[in-house]
Amino acid sequence: MTAHPLFDIGGRTALVTGSSRGIGLALARGLAEAGCRVVLNGRDGDRLAEAAAGLPGEVRTAVFDVTDGPSVAAGIADVEERVGPLDILVNNAGMQLRAPLLEFADADWHRVLDTNLTSAFLVGREAARRMTERGHGKIVNICSLQSEVVRPGIAPYAATKGALKMLTKGMCADWGPYGVQVNGLGPGYIETELTRPLVEDEKFSTWVRGRTPAGRWGRTEDLVGGLLFLASPAADFVGGQILYVDGGMTSVL
Ligand code: NDP
Repeated sequence: MTAHPLFDIGGRTALVTGSSRGIGLALARGLAEAGCRVVLNGRDGDRLAEAAAGLPGEVRTAVFDVTDGPSVAAGIADVEERVGPLDILVNNAGMQLRAPLLEFADADWHRVLDTNLTSAFLVGREAARRMTERGHGKIVNICSLQSEVVRPGIAPYAATKGALKMLTKGMCADWGPYGVQVNGLGPGYIETELTRPLVEDEKFSTWVRGRTPAGRWGRTEDLVGGLLFLASPAADFVGGQILYVDGGMTSVL
């Protein structure tokens, strides 16, 4: 049996920001396995080259810092020149700093905001300039279950992810009329480098399993199906939505 043609994204060019490891790398692998020309992004060229070597198909790398406007503009222009017009952008790069709000330093606040929110604006705007002109494109912003709910010690991160949800809807409002679909993917608790301290905290880890209807932590591969859907023609009339892939956690008390 073959897959339904609505899910065919073979031959598309896709850029995944923050894809040297973790969720970004797994999403890039999923796109590569679906037949896309994939561009990996991060700040460390060696790490990206190593990651690219482990993926199937035609995989390129683009080294730029997603928080820096001029680097983003140059990076996107370079990708389009070297690899071709972007069909799919995944705004995935992100970071987390955990501390009580009363102890949260100004510089850390700006770092979290720049990496998780401003980056999606900068990279999204640069890609959408071209996509809107061509009349098609798919943008998927990696949100979080913390776009909806928050725990102590994580307020700045949750603030960025809540804002990213609204930025997703705003991008949809602005760019939808020009054929660019923008949606979000909201992972639950997924085992990666970012969550390692939480995974290693036995009490917290057990709490996550108990609190998740699916009864386990998420794996990076769990997110691939949702991304492939949002990036495919099957989602051509889906706009401004956040698809939570969290084992059900966001839905239950
Ligand atoms: P990781 O820390 O494992 O990976 C983060 C990636 O982002 C790395 O590839 C890193 O590359 C890249 N990155 C960070 N800052 C920049 C920057 N300024 N410019 C370019 N690249 C950058 O995180 P995860 O894989 O866990 O998370 C990925 C996304 O998923 C994030 O947006 C996160 O908020 C979100 N998420 C994660 C969840 C989880 O449970 N893990 C849950 C919900 C959402 P390098 O350092 O090489 O530049």
